[in-house]
Amino acid sequence: MKKIAAVIVAGGSGKRMGTAIKKQFIKLRDKEVLAYTIEAFNKLEEISEIIVVTGEEDIQKVEKEIIQAYRLNKVSKVVAGGKERQDSVHNGLMAVAGEMEYVMIHDGARPFISEEVLRRAIDKTIECKATIVAVPVKDTIKVINPETQIVETTPSREMLWSVQTPQSFDKELLKAAYKEANEKGLQVTDDSMIVEAYGKQVAVVLGEYTNIKITTPEDLVVGESILNN
Ligand code: C5P
Repeated sequence: MKKIAAVIVAGGSGKRMGTAIKKQFIKLRDKEVLAYTIEAFNKLEEISEIIVVTGEEDIQKVEKEIIQAYRLNKVSKVVAGGKERQDSVHNGLMAVAGEMEYVMIHDGARPFISEEVLRRAIDKTIECKATIVAVPVKDTIKVINPETQIVETTPSREMLWSVQTPQSFDKELLKAAYKEANEKGLQVTDDSMIVEAYGKQVAVVLGEYTNIKITTPEDLVVGESILNN
């Protein structure tokens, strides 16, 4: 069996949630969002190792209140994140055990990732080395001039997909791509962009609309109803 690691990033400040309690410790039905997320990977047979990335000041709390409390036995390390998401991913990637062949990068704030989508992502990544999980957009998307607030263009909806995580890669490919991106000072909003800039093709795997990122208070309401279903 292939050796697959998951890097779960939960090192954001969670400012958009506007609560005193940090985003990764917010609970849905008495369980932390981050605990649901890690569990989804922990229970999957294909996953050998999990690295959790969180703020330096939260490492002990995550270890005690999440990893030990829910017996998430595949978590081998909890490491400190960085300023931007890409710094947090890089720190997590560097902590992955040498024998791992593939790595799945996932947002700690996406607790509803299903087993089916994870399996789909794993199969496709073994086939073609770099994959993202995404869903076709439902809305019409427009490009707006940020200064004038006037519509510039309307891209064809058939070409637009909303990108989620996990984003999964051959580990050595992602490491090489990150090395080059850091040397060039490239700033990105997802890991795929780093691999695209490195010149490799990235394949798309169909995700689910329920694989939301819990970012603002409304998302908690949606999250509750996803759990109820
Ligand atoms: O901020 P954004 O919504 O893009 O965050 C997506 C995920 O990346 C979240 O799970 C967040 O905790 C994580 N993140 C991180 N380190 C940062 C910023 C975000 O691990 N510096």
